[in-house]
Amino acid sequence: MINADLHCHSTVSDGLLAPAAVAQRACDGGVTLWALTDHDEVAGQLEARAAAQALGMRYIAGVEISVTWAERTVHIVGLNVDPQSPVLVSGLALTRNGRYARAQEMGRRLAALGLPGVFEGALKYVSNPDLISRSHFARYLVEVGAAASISDVFDRYLSEGKPGFAPHRWARLSDAMQWIAAAGGTAVVAHPGRYKYSQLEFAAFFDEFRQLGGDAIEVVTGSHTPDQYREYADVARRYGFRASRGSDFHAPDDPHTGLGSLPPLPSDLVPVWRAWL
Ligand code: AMP
Ligand code: MN
Ligand code: MN
Ligand code: MN
Repeated sequence: MINADLHCHSTVSDGLLAPAAVAQRACDGGVTLWALTDHDEVAGQLEARAAAQALGMRYIAGVEISVTWAERTVHIVGLNVDPQSPVLVSGLALTRNGRYARAQEMGRRLAALGLPGVFEGALKYVSNPDLISRSHFARYLVEVGAAASISDVFDRYLSEGKPGFAPHRWARLSDAMQWIAAAGGTAVVAHPGRYKYSQLEFAAFFDEFRQLGGDAIEVVTGSHTPDQYREYADVARRYGFRASRGSDFHAPDDPHTGLGSLPPLPSDLVPVWRAWL
């Protein structure tokens, strides 16, 4: 039995544990096939692979790329990539560019709402200065009592369209797909259930993803409800997409599931990892 967890984060992006510590947690959770998929950065891949191998887990190199499609943010996970690919590495560097200025802008917007010093406060949680994310803001806002929980922060301040949110233009879908292909990897639509697209937009998005060579989506993820497991299993069947599974683990106190503990994929779907075993 393969227990695959192919989506999670470390201190290289907005997770709270170092790559080796995430590996240990994955192993403790029973994971046998693991990928660390930090946002827009592959700097944790060597540490992750070494830790996984020392623990007896199979390792797949990964990354989660921020993309803007139809004015909204979509995440594309690249799996089985070569983390040394110059095309991937330089593309990710371009994507990261601008995060710092965007974070300063979010700080200004929150200050205007009566929450001063949030940019500086969020920096305490940032280990990679190139990768300041809304998660770091959320942790600080919970710490100072401005919101009850991380999800409360997003609902009130940081989700798209909320008053502390600063829009940002990420990579184009076609570029992200090219970087992943150039690195020899497989592109997977991350947590499709999280995107606020209309039915028409979703159809156009999946068509374009397929035209660009994409053939896999996350079905069972910590970011989906059980209803969404069923909904996106149906999408995978309809489009002939392979399916992936991953916790989207960020921190030990995450409200959702830990590494390796999600339900298995529906047995009729083709797991994205089958080709690698
Ligand atoms: P950013 O890349 O800076 O836009 O931040 C996106 C990150 O914020 C995601 O990767 C999640 O870790 C986190 N995030 C986004 N929306 C939510 C939410 N509703 N609840 C909890 N975390 C969220
Ligand atoms: Mn994140
Ligand atoms: Mn994501
Ligand atoms: Mn993620």
